[in-house]
Amino acid sequence: MLILDGGTGVRALGRQLAANGKPVSVDLLVTHTHWDHIQGLPFFLPFFRPGNAVRIWGARQAGIDLEEILRNQMSPVVFPVPLDGLAAELLVTHIEPGELELAGFKVEAIRVRHPGVTLAYRITPSEGGRSFAYVPDNELGPGGDYDVPGSWRDDFVEFLNGTDVLIHDAMYTSGELERHRGWGHSSNLEAIELASEAQVQQLVMFHHRPEHDDDQVDAMLEETRKAARARGGGVDVIAAREGLKITL
Ligand SMILES: [Zn+2]
Ligand SMILES: [Zn+2]
Repeated sequence: MLILDGGTGVRALGRQLAANGKPVSVDLLVTHTHWDHIQGLPFFLPFFRPGNAVRIWGARQAGIDLEEILRNQMSPVVFPVPLDGLAAELLVTHIEPGELELAGFKVEAIRVRHPGVTLAYRITPSEGGRSFAYVPDNELGPGGDYDVPGSWRDDFVEFLNGTDVLIHDAMYTSGELERHRGWGHSSNLEAIELASEAQVQQLVMFHHRPEHDDDQVDAMLEETRKAARARGGGVDVIAAREGLKITL
């Protein structure tokens, strides 16, 4: 099992893992440590049972070790249990852009256009097969000041090329995007442009703007599907929702 980020969803997952009573041994890959990607970690039930093991992988931020960031997140002024008081075995390891083998998967990491050191992951079973990419926070358009090379767009398209499922930032409508250049996110239409350029099979619109209700997400989905058809219809598009299951 490989968990991607520790948002509020890991609370429900933790309850599910704890409910079957068996020891839990999991790897969790962090894209970056903005709140929405680590908020659920202090509430991840497997942390609080002896015999469990949780290995967290991610990048250092602004010279600060990932473990220190997680420790601060559970400081006694904001949380009753400190990181050093967890019953489970915790191992925090830094990773860099590149490739690693993890939990039976080949994990490829690349830096994306988002504040701090934010990584995107492409994940394929070690023995080969269908792959998916997880890119929750990424600014595809101009704006922002990110530490990526001039060849970034081409590199990124190559990184994603032929992925079966691409889970990508589609936070803003095109109108909203104009007011949020430099915020580190993309529009639904930028996401489909990337997906079709990289020849992925399915785009999963992700990181919905909290202000959008279901009707707005549906309208954006319809607009994205229309754009996919206009580009030749090669990419299937869905909008992520809580509890969504995708079989590769
Ligand atoms: Zn972020
Ligand atoms: Zn985010």
